[in-house]
Amino acid sequence: MIAMQYMHIFGPVASRRLGRSLGVDLVPHKVCSFDCVYCEVGRTTLKTTTRQEFFPPEEVERELFMFLSSRPDLDFITFSGSGEPTLSLSIGRVIRFIKDTFPGYRVAVLTNGSLLGNGDIQDALRPADVVLPTLSTVDEETFQKIHRPAAGVSVRAIIEGLCRFRETYPGEIWLEVFLVPGLNTGDDALRALREAIGRIRPDRVQLNTLDRPGPEPWVRAAGTGELQRAARILGIGEEEAFLPLRYGEVQGRPPGDAQSVVIEAIRRRPATLEDLVAQTGLHRQEVIKLLRALSADPHLKTRREARGTFYCWSGD
Ligand code: SF4
Repeated sequence: MIAMQYMHIFGPVASRRLGRSLGVDLVPHKVCSFDCVYCEVGRTTLKTTTRQEFFPPEEVERELFMFLSSRPDLDFITFSGSGEPTLSLSIGRVIRFIKDTFPGYRVAVLTNGSLLGNGDIQDALRPADVVLPTLSTVDEETFQKIHRPAAGVSVRAIIEGLCRFRETYPGEIWLEVFLVPGLNTGDDALRALREAIGRIRPDRVQLNTLDRPGPEPWVRAAGTGELQRAARILGIGEEEAFLPLRYGEVQGRPPGDAQSVVIEAIRRRPATLEDLVAQTGLHRQEVIKLLRALSADPHLKTRREARGTFYCWSGD
């Protein structure tokens, strides 16, 4: 077992939407209110809408203090990781800790949006700079098929929650629309979604589609033409349609030894060699060498997909 210096923060990684981003993970793998058919993190093992304090917040704050004290160059500190971050009762406290102790850093929260109608969560997220919720359909049946949510979660309530959140949240909302061809890519479905987005009034709308192997082999990525058509119907610029990964933005060595960094990255989600180079800032040859050295380890699995060979790490 490789010693991990950090348990609750990871990266910095090159994020498609957020540039050079330090991840903060407040929930254990894999606790979420959804079990999306496209989830890169794997199947949900605890599907719930009940909020809990999963880890002592002091532990997370200690790690953030250690890492941020050297004032690393970051575009965002992002709450994301192994599940739905708003399920953590500590999220408001940890956001405030960052803003009070390191006010120069911008904070982002990646969320599935299912709990944004909750007043406590609205208060908790208020100091964050950007909240990035997902809304991929307005049709209840399609919503259930794509997201397989916890009992009692409906897309109608989520849309109402997003509208209420918009009224009180002073930061920016960047709404993600995740396209699953065959489920939510029809013209009428996208037109209805555009109407709902008009009510929510996000600052940006960004398209996303499958990029790494998900839990369901039948889910495929939307092609360029499908992304362009969806962007047109939703009335958003093509530059927001599945933005290319900002390769080369992570420079310098990440914290921790290189092997731990690579294992930690592929433990969180499958990655190609190119992804690993972009995410970690390690040199390509070094990553190749590490993957070769790890190839005999039974935890390392590979999977061939259209975008290349994906590496993942299962177990301890
Ligand atoms: S909401 Fe996010 S973490 Fe949860 S299942 Fe969906 S993609 Fe995965």
